[in-house]
Amino acid sequence: MDKLFDLDPAEAVRQASALLGCSPTSKNVADYFDKHDKLRHFRGNFLVPKIADLPPSDLSLVDGSEECIYLSGNSLGLQPKNARKYIEEELDNWAKIAIHGHTVGPRPWAWAENNIELLMANVVGAKEEEVALMNGLTVNLHLLMLSFYKPTQTRHKILLEDKAFPSDHVSTQVCPTTSSRTRYFNRTEDILDIIEKEGDSIAVVMFAGVQFYTGQLFEMDAITKAGHRKGCFVGFDCAHAVGNVELKLHDWGVDFACWCSYKYLNSGAGGLGGAFIHEKHKDTIKPALLGWWGHELKTRFQMTNVMELQPGVSGFRLSNQPILLVCPLQASLEVFNMTSMQMLRRKSVLLTGYLEYLIKHYYSEDPAQPHKPYVRIITPSDPQQRGCQLSLSFSIPIRRVYQALERRGVTCDMREPSVLRVAPAPLYNSFRDVHRFIETLGKALAASSSSSSS
Ligand SMILES: *Cc1c(COP(=O)(O)O)cnc(C)c1O
Repeated sequence: MDKLFDLDPAEAVRQASALLGCSPTSKNVADYFDKHDKLRHFRGNFLVPKIADLPPSDLSLVDGSEECIYLSGNSLGLQPKNARKYIEEELDNWAKIAIHGHTVGPRPWAWAENNIELLMANVVGAKEEEVALMNGLTVNLHLLMLSFYKPTQTRHKILLEDKAFPSDHVSTQVCPTTSSRTRYFNRTEDILDIIEKEGDSIAVVMFAGVQFYTGQLFEMDAITKAGHRKGCFVGFDCAHAVGNVELKLHDWGVDFACWCSYKYLNSGAGGLGGAFIHEKHKDTIKPALLGWWGHELKTRFQMTNVMELQPGVSGFRLSNQPILLVCPLQASLEVFNMTSMQMLRRKSVLLTGYLEYLIKHYYSEDPAQPHKPYVRIITPSDPQQRGCQLSLSFSIPIRRVYQALERRGVTCDMREPSVLRVAPAPLYNSFRDVHRFIETLGKALAASSSSSSS
């Protein structure tokens, strides 16, 4: 019954409940999906916190020995089990062979990041030499903009989505001209329309891949084509897209992209950032800032002070790479490479569709019950226009509900006054997690409307 995963999610729920002879909201449906989920064993590669260990948990309300309901993979992915092992290997190397660790061992420090770039490239749909792992996301965004944004009298604008993430917004402030912005909620037609109308004065189109607040997945392929038709460079901040949706940065002809690795890529807080420059630019787009790590590896350590710049994004490297950050990212990318983004996405569409189905079932606006809180999903309902995250806007202030969820072992994200962002990650979340979340949300809503204590 694996083919349920290819149906429209609401239809899959109906068919599963008919087959099982139970209500579509029954936990049996979740168990059935889990049973037929070919990716479910990947959860075993991650450490899922126990409810008792989470600081806000209230053990008088919930069984602390259970795994928490972790829906925060859009913010900080879970720890891959091999992260600790790999880090310990390098701590041991440092202790035992010190300086020799640069060239000896399972991941010689002097080129450690090169060993995992292919694993990374597979996840973003790029060639190995189009990807560099370095710095943090904001730094990479600045480095790329310094090289791609070359304003002229007539072509000087940057087009980005409104309400972009602060770093993305700030990086555009270095530009001396006003940027033109699309409206809060972005229909692809409107974006393409603006590019068509204003493209001649736009130097760079810089969008998120997936918008961090709304969860909207932008049509990167179409936006790239439209930008190129008008002679603009097109780049994407893939912070919320990488490890979440299928990316084909190379095939789409995207000029540049960057991302962080601690969200869906599970590399740990402040993990190593990623950057992509399409191979078509490898000999023409040069880094604005140079460092010894951009020098060809063969002659890097001869220290002649004659720069032999590596082509493409590799030449953008500045410093030697932090081996202790390479380790957890390697642990996670190895898991991603045991499957494919296509397979993960197939599960994700049903997993998030199931969440949407249950939210709509329980929390649609009901004129017959005017006092009942309801939820509006501000993420697009078309699975092709979103990743795994749903942004839920409640009809009531949500702080107390959020606290009641936290006490009961749910992690998710609140934006005042009334939005919850929940992100079931297909790599380690289960259908049972989604079902438990919905049950717990019901309890949290009841608790926060009836008393002020829980
Ligand atoms: C998470 C995120 C960042 C964070 O930047 P860091 O440099 O990693 O701290 C920046 N931009 C977007 C769009 C993000 O989602």
